[in-house]
Amino acid sequence: MLDIAIIGGGPAGLAAGLYAVRGGGNVRLFEELFAGGQIVKTHRIENYPGITDGPDGYALAARFEEHAAAFGLSIEYGAVSELVLDADPKRFICNGKAYEAKTVILATGASPKTLGIPGERELTGHGVSYCATCDGAFYKNRTATVIGGGDTAISDALYLAKLCSKVYVVHRRDTLRASAILADAAKQTENITFVWNSVPEAFLGEGKLCAIRIKNRVTGEVSELITDGAFVAVGVVPRTELFKGQIALSENGSVITDEKTETSVKGVFAAGDVRNTPLRQVVTACADGAIAATYALEAARVK
Ligand code: NAP
Repeated sequence: MLDIAIIGGGPAGLAAGLYAVRGGGNVRLFEELFAGGQIVKTHRIENYPGITDGPDGYALAARFEEHAAAFGLSIEYGAVSELVLDADPKRFICNGKAYEAKTVILATGASPKTLGIPGERELTGHGVSYCATCDGAFYKNRTATVIGGGDTAISDALYLAKLCSKVYVVHRRDTLRASAILADAAKQTENITFVWNSVPEAFLGEGKLCAIRIKNRVTGEVSELITDGAFVAVGVVPRTELFKGQIALSENGSVITDEKTETSVKGVFAAGDVRNTPLRQVVTACADGAIAATYALEAARVK
C-alpha cells in the first residue's frame, strides 16, 4: 500500500513528490499525459526565484521531474479512474491496476476556460486555440487575436508579437488584470493593438477562422475583426471531474482546503491550481505541494 498517491504531475504534484520521497514515504505520482501541467504551455518563466535563465515551461517541468526522480519518485503514466476518497485506505484504478493509498494528494490542476460562443467548438484547431506556445508558429507573419486581459492573455500577446505581423488583444474592460510588468511591455509593443471594452460574440469562418464578431460593451457597436488566429485566454477551470461530489468545492469549483492543504475528507490533500487559492503561480503551486506532502506523510505515519 502506498503512503501517498499523488494525482497530477504539474509543479504542485512534482514538488509534492520530491518532498514526499525525500521524507521517506512510499509514494507514487500518477500523471495522465506528460509531466509539467499547464506550465508546458508557457514560453518563458521569469518569476520562479533562483531560476534566472528564463526557461520555457517544458524545460522547467523537465528539471522538476528530473529533480524528483533523482530522489526516487516513481511516476506512472495513465489516467486515474474509480477514485474512492471517503474510505480507508483510499482506492483507485490506473492502467487496469487497483491501487490503495493511506493518503491522496489531488494535484489535477486546471484547464482553460472556454467562451461558449458560436463557432468556438467547430473552429477549435482550425484557427481557435487555447495555447499560444503550442500553436503560435502557425500564425507566423500573419494576424492573431488574443482574448482576455490577464497574465496569460498578455504573455501570449507578447509571445505572438514576436512571430506575427499584427496582434490584437480583445479585452472586456479598459484596464488590464495582468501584472504591470507584462501590461507595460504589451502597451509598448508596436504591433500589439488593444480592442478595449469588447467581447467576442462569435468565431466566423467555414472550416477555418477568418474573423471574430465583436461587440463593444460601451457603445453597443458590433464589428468584425479580421484575423487568422484567435487565442482564448480568459482564465482557467479547476479540474475536479475525477472526484466531484466526494469533497467540498468552492463556488468557483476549486477544492476547499485548510492551511495544511487538507480537504474536507481526512487524508485527502489538494495542491496547486485545483485548490481554492488566491494566487496561481508556479511558485505557489510548488509551495502547496511541499505543504501537502509534509502533512500527507504525517497522516500516513499515524495510520
Ligand atoms: P485570469 O487572471 O482569471 O484572467 C482572465 C482574463 O479573462 C481577465 O482579464 C478577464 O476579464 C477575462 N475574462 C474572463 N472571462 C471572460 C469572458 N467570458 N469573456 C471575455 N473575457 C473574459 O486568468 P489567466 O490570465 O489565465 O491567469 C490565471 C492565473 O495564472 C492567474 O493567477 C495568473 O496570475 C496566473 N498566471 C501567471 C503568469 C505569470 O506570472 N507570468 C502567467 C500566466 C498565468 P476581467 O479582467 O474583466 O475579469
